[in-house]
Amino acid sequence: MIIPIRCLSCGKPIGHLWEEFKRRTAQGESPKKVMDDLGLVRYCCRAQFMGHIDLIDEVAKFKRG
Ligand SMILES: [Zn+2]
Repeated sequence: MIIPIRCLSCGKPIGHLWEEFKRRTAQGESPKKVMDDLGLVRYCCRAQFMGHIDLIDEVAKFKRG
């Protein structure tokens, strides 16, 4: 569950944004707003982050179960 250092599609560096994204969404900010703030405007970059959120939810289910 490691975010790619760069977007796989367009090559934009995104790895360094992941920690802030994770922290702010955990505090209740909407992922859309945080991605806008971080400059993730392309869908391909946003998809990297959204895909990781889904994975985290899956892992959390396993931990609880
Ligand atoms: Zn991209």
